[in-house]
Amino acid sequence: MAQLIDGKLLSAQIRSEVKADVEKRVQLGKRAPFLTVVLIGEDPASASYVKAKAAASAEVGIGSDTLRFESSISESEVLALLARLNEDPNVDGILVQLPLPSHIDEQKVINAIAPTKDVDCFHPESVGNLVIGMDGFQPATPAGIVEMLRRSNIPTAGKHCVIIGRSNIVGKPLANLMLKKGIDSTVTVCHSRTPNLPEIARQADILVAAIGRAHFVTADMVKEGAVVIDVGINRIDDPTKERGYRLVGDVDFEAVSKKASFITPVPGGVGPMTIAVLLQNTLKASR
Ligand code: NAD
Repeated sequence: MAQLIDGKLLSAQIRSEVKADVEKRVQLGKRAPFLTVVLIGEDPASASYVKAKAAASAEVGIGSDTLRFESSISESEVLALLARLNEDPNVDGILVQLPLPSHIDEQKVINAIAPTKDVDCFHPESVGNLVIGMDGFQPATPAGIVEMLRRSNIPTAGKHCVIIGRSNIVGKPLANLMLKKGIDSTVTVCHSRTPNLPEIARQADILVAAIGRAHFVTADMVKEGAVVIDVGINRIDDPTKERGYRLVGDVDFEAVSKKASFITPVPGGVGPMTIAVLLQNTLKASR
């Protein structure tokens, strides 16, 4: 039976480290770090992520505000807002919650955030720094995964890490982190056009699922003793729940946990780690 990697516990450790650093800063007479979140439209998942980010910031002493806009806001209004926030000396980190309404070009918006305030690590400059192994902001979800491995004493050097999913938010930045000197994994990235995916997945010492399909990774795709990291967050109908659904990952947890050595749960796995890294990035931005 696999050992559970408890994202709630590990993220609480990171949050308390950030909190201690924020307190030190404030004791030295410096202003507390400040994060501005931009939320456009009414997407319920986005609203709940933004709420969680604000609550986590408050808990560690990071100031934050959420600027909310109707989905009818124009692209040029968003760009003008970002230009103002870039210049605002009281704002350390800027986060525009994705996805954006279809009339707004997401990449244009990402490019308009000052790289020094890019706490989501989505700006091309941040991504470039990541690829060449320079210090800078960490991509939140991938860095959260690396922290989970590190804090669980799971070796990564020379291990075969297979990542399923090639998004700019998870798959690609994670591949770059796992390749980094000091982490030193051998990395394979699979995606929707990979024909022999189960065969490749079975070679993984560390298997990461970031697809967005409930129970995509079945036990036959997992090597005995592999470490399995489940990034997926999927809603499936569940009439026994008051809200009518429950959240599951991309991994068939029941069956895979009998084969894996370590596994992350959903919820309570990668999700909380993502927010913890965002707080670390905001603290970094304030420096
Ligand atoms: P995305 O839709 O941008 O990317 C999904 C990737 O999966 C694509 O690269 C695609 O090639 C691949 N894919 C899709 N179908 C496939 C198939 N049949 N076979 C192989 N590959 C396939 O999604 P994303 O933003 O990377 O998110 C993935 C999942 O992770 C979602 O469920 C999302 O909600 C979740 N997520 C969780 C966190 C967290 O903090 N826990 C953060 C980001 C994303």
